[in-house]
Amino acid sequence: MAFEIRGYYAIPSRIQTWGLEDWKQYIDCMLDDGCNFLIYWIGGGFPSKRFPETWRYNTAHCNMTENFFGAVVEYAHAKGIEVVLGFTPYAYDGVASYADAHPELAGTNPDGTIHRTRGIHDVGMWLCPRHEQSRQFMLDYVREMIFDFYPNADGLFVESSDYGHCRCPECAEHYVEREWEFVRTIADELWAAKPGARMVIYPLYYQQGVAQPDLRFSLFFTPHSAHITPDVVSLDCPKMYWVMLFGLDPHAAAEGARIAADNGLQGYVVAMEAFSYTQELNGRTVTYRPFDVPWSPSEVFPMKDLIPSVMRFSYKFHCENPYADEDEYRAALAGAFFGDRSRTQDADDLLYVVSALQKFQHFGRRGSLVHPEEFEFEHSPEKRVAAEAEYRVILSRFRDIGARHASHELGRIARWVVDRWLEVRPETPRISEWVSEGN
Ligand SMILES: [Zn+2]
Repeated sequence: MAFEIRGYYAIPSRIQTWGLEDWKQYIDCMLDDGCNFLIYWIGGGFPSKRFPETWRYNTAHCNMTENFFGAVVEYAHAKGIEVVLGFTPYAYDGVASYADAHPELAGTNPDGTIHRTRGIHDVGMWLCPRHEQSRQFMLDYVREMIFDFYPNADGLFVESSDYGHCRCPECAEHYVEREWEFVRTIADELWAAKPGARMVIYPLYYQQGVAQPDLRFSLFFTPHSAHITPDVVSLDCPKMYWVMLFGLDPHAAAEGARIAADNGLQGYVVAMEAFSYTQELNGRTVTYRPFDVPWSPSEVFPMKDLIPSVMRFSYKFHCENPYADEDEYRAALAGAFFGDRSRTQDADDLLYVVSALQKFQHFGRRGSLVHPEEFEFEHSPEKRVAAEAEYRVILSRFRDIGARHASHELGRIARWVVDRWLEVRPETPRISEWVSEGN
């Protein structure tokens, strides 16, 4: 194994339907994938007694009635997997709902209006840390999470917001210092209670000079919001790199592994997210299913479906072989999914289908490649012709792949997608010809 720390980043707050048994399966899959580390992002996902407004939006989540996250941690430990609890200071799930319930504490735009963003699940508002009550809330909420609810967790993952923060005049100047005050306080409390607990933070506090490096913290880098810089990469503390992976081409796993290895990082972690919740979107109620693989007979826990399996395989392969080239990867993929390392053309078909599906399913958003009934909602009238042309190219190739792999799961999925279009949008140009061809 090339990396000491190998694992997945998951947001259980946004998986309302998975109970303890599903999470046990998830952890078993992690073991199969060579993982030993889980970022378990639970802001807004546990039934806080002190701040019930943080989960009022998430009452459909089964952890609210069953409170089983502690048992997930216990199960992970039994399998040798370390678990850190994730959340974002002053933003994101749970915090956004608290801000919504206390608009006098809400983060603002520079002109003083409350900042609202549209997004998945619970990312609507920020909290402004210039208010004493906001700072107190943030500490007390995380204290409750780690000390009262899930003290068996191995530590905390403090995800600095990647979609900005309050932009009031005070935060414009001092936001990062405020966030660091929070991090410093909660870290000291955690280490007092549990010496050696893992505190994973973003490098911005050091990079912006608001804090002196403390080597007890683990550092976390991402391609879009936490860059690797010489001043911090040379620090003698655990460091890890993250990539989105889910929602990206499987090749993203290769790039992330190479960056982590090139920089001598100890850890490589990828998002392995399975969103499952209902949300109001464009005036409709939309339900997201885990990994959005509606062809799967096990839709509730489809982590062993072909598409998630290829993503998992890609992570594991590149984690073990960060400097493998494309040919080695294709051969390994062919061996794993077609039983023969020389079947690299079949591996290319598989990669094509996975990449196309990933591209259109970012955040499990029910893209219209797989859900053609969403087409009008997803594309404004002036963009429909171009979108249809793009889908047509993909569907045409899916159709060929469906025929070529008739007895393989790959062919079954490719045909499923084409059949949905024939069923829902048979009037689509070119595709309409396939209907008359009886296919
Ligand atoms: Zn502010």
